[in-house]
Amino acid sequence: MSFLKNLFGGARLDGDVLARSKEIKEYAQIDLLSCFVTPRLPHEPAEQKRWSRVLPKPYMETLALLQKQGWLAQSPDGFYQVTAAGMPFVETYRQRTEAAKAEAMAKVRKALEQKMTSEALTVRRQYENLTPLGKADWTGPEPQMDHSAVTRRIFFLEHWLLDGLSPETQAWLKLYAAEEHLWGAYWRQPAAEIPSYVQAELARADQDISEAAYWKAYQLGLYVDNQETWQRCKGGDHVRRMEIVGPDDEFTCEHCRAARGKEYLVVRVPELPHRECTSPRGCRCRYEPVLETVEEIPLHG
Ligand SMILES: [Zn+2]
Repeated sequence: MSFLKNLFGGARLDGDVLARSKEIKEYAQIDLLSCFVTPRLPHEPAEQKRWSRVLPKPYMETLALLQKQGWLAQSPDGFYQVTAAGMPFVETYRQRTEAAKAEAMAKVRKALEQKMTSEALTVRRQYENLTPLGKADWTGPEPQMDHSAVTRRIFFLEHWLLDGLSPETQAWLKLYAAEEHLWGAYWRQPAAEIPSYVQAELARADQDISEAAYWKAYQLGLYVDNQETWQRCKGGDHVRRMEIVGPDDEFTCEHCRAARGKEYLVVRVPELPHRECTSPRGCRCRYEPVLETVEEIPLHG
């Protein structure tokens, strides 16, 4: 059949087959098509190169091919958009990627319930390796080698951030925070999925429970990341100073605002989170290594 199609119709593609295919080269074409649901210009040249590596034909040729199928249209101003004929394949593909995401998230959660963080990271990597560019659009940056070890620290945290919380609530928060940290992504949990004991302990007048749980879990992930940055800088030769950075918005307290942008020698840097912080979101300050200019780096050997 495909032989006849090729013989008579040139490159006539079956969108439904591509959208469901197990071959990355095949579904990558529908993945690319999906980028144009909202009209947009072609990707930047560097990005096009990454796409070309995984597509059966180079990026621009693929766009032309998708146009030829009637799935993609180009407007006079150069914008491309998926046509009505192309949308069913985009939809099939979207359902497929949603299902893959749900499955990977469930597997990661299961591994983390056992504190198996490196297994959880393997699940994340396997999941992302199946995306055409090797990176899902909702996850954080490419994880460092020791990422799962940092995630793991969340489970063993004993910190004033957890003061006054029952062991059950601490365990629930740690799992939530570890899951987010592992993915490098942050999300609110629907109130209905937050256990009643957690709701009772985290309730605040100025935030709904999803928001309160979100910021509490966020604090735990941020804490292990800050610890990691600090330890890495303390142990290295090349970083002598760290800067305190953080958001400056309506939720930033005066103490954190005053600390923003200040640089310290690594050994003198104030502890984060700031105990003095009064923000309803908690202290969102981070350590940022200050990169020395070339002349300042001592030469070795
Ligand atoms: Zn603050």
